[in-house]
Order: sequence, then C-alpha cells, then structure tokens
Amino acid sequence: MSSTDFSSLPLSAATLANLAALGYTEMTPIQAQSLPVMLKGRDLIAQAKTGSGKTAAFGIALLEPLNPRYFGCQALVLCPTRELADQVAKELRRLARAADNIKILTLCGGVSIGPQIASLEHGAHVIVGTPGRVQEHLKKGTLSLDGLNTLVLDEADRMLDMGFYDAIAEVIAQTPARRQTLLFSATYPAGIQQLATTFMRDPQSVKVAALH
Ligand code: ADP
Ligand code: MG
Repeated sequence: MSSTDFSSLPLSAATLANLAALGYTEMTPIQAQSLPVMLKGRDLIAQAKTGSGKTAAFGIALLEPLNPRYFGCQALVLCPTRELADQVAKELRRLARAADNIKILTLCGGVSIGPQIASLEHGAHVIVGTPGRVQEHLKKGTLSLDGLNTLVLDEADRMLDMGFYDAIAEVIAQTPARRQTLLFSATYPAGIQQLATTFMRDPQSVKVAALH
C-alpha cells in the first residue's frame, strides 16, 4: 500500500468505496500531505496551485467527523465568490454520497435572503458561503455557529484581495474557540500570515510547489 492510497488514511469503508466510485484512485500531492494532518484534528495552512484537488482534501476531512443526527452547522467553508461556493458545494455533495443524508447549503450574496432563511430553518450540516452573506445571517440570528467543528477558508488569498478580512474576522468571532481551522490558498501573501497568527492554533503548513 503506497502513501498515496486513500486506504492508508483512517477513513470509513463507505468513504473509501465512494472515492473509488468517483474515480479517485490515488491522492493528489496536496491531499497526501494535508489529509493525515487534518484527520488528526490539527489546524492546517495548505498552499497549492489551482486544480490540485484542494476541495476534496478539505471536503474529506470535514465530512468524516460529521454527526448526521445533529442538524446544526458543523462545518463552514468560506469562499470568495458565489461561483466558487457553488463548485465547492457540488464537490462536497459528491463526496458526501457515502454519508447518511448530509445536508449542504450555500449562503451567498446576490440572491434574496428569504429562501436562505427558510432553508436554514430545516437545518444544515455543512454551509458553504461568502463572508458577507454568512455575516449577515449571523447578525440577523438566522444562523448559529455554536456547534461548529471545522472552519475552512478556501482561496484565502482571493478573499483577502477582495477585502473580506474584517468580514472573516467577524464570522470567526461567532465560532467556538475549540474549532479546527483549515486555510487553503494558491499564494501566500502577508495577509495570510496575519489570518494564521490571529485565528489559528499551532497550524501545520504544507506546500506543494508548482511544476513551473
Ligand atoms: P483546486 O481547489 O486545488 O483548484 P479542485 O478541488 O477544484 O482543485 O480539483 C480539481 C479537479 O480534480 C476536480 O475536477 C476534482 O474532481 C479532481 N480531483 C480531486 N481529487 C482527485 C483525485 N484524488 N483523483 C482524481 N481527481 C481528483
Ligand atoms: Mg479550490
């Protein structure tokens, strides 16, 4: 068994079977470096170029510990745009096929808030959203992050470019201190270090160099 086999990880048989069904036969380099760290519960900063499989990396890590019987938000993924949030939610739904009825909801701006509030009343295990709209739901009291286990900052460099630092900070202020925080980025500008030192606990860093 090589260290790039998903079966080298502490994952359920159902998860491994689903990954095989998706055609994911081997871990990508960023998955092989980050999954052992994340599955131990450690905070992580992962840097790898676009298209390297970062979504499945954090997706597998956040889905594995979910409790399907608790319909509160247990994992939150913050993304820079609605398009990216939709792509992440789509990949998470494919990865969650192995699990019992996991509900994944997107909360992004640019669409009316009413239907989102109605969906939140039914509960969701995982929320994928943009910082501004998630912050709006927290202010209105239509979303609670009291039961959050995992926070993912996806495309963190782009979120900082778009001026989301304060919104991210306000969202994080509403999460439990004992959460796991995972930060994914293609580049590592100074703001990322500030996010890490302010909001992460002893994070391990992994980096996969671009080939060119
Ligand atoms: P990134 O976020 O790093 O830009 P994505 O998460 O969007 O990259 O993944 C890029 C593509 O790779 C997606 O189409 C995804 O389904 C596919 N993929 C991810 N992990 C694997 C894997 N282990 N084996 C094969 N394909 C994979
Ligand atoms: Mg990505």
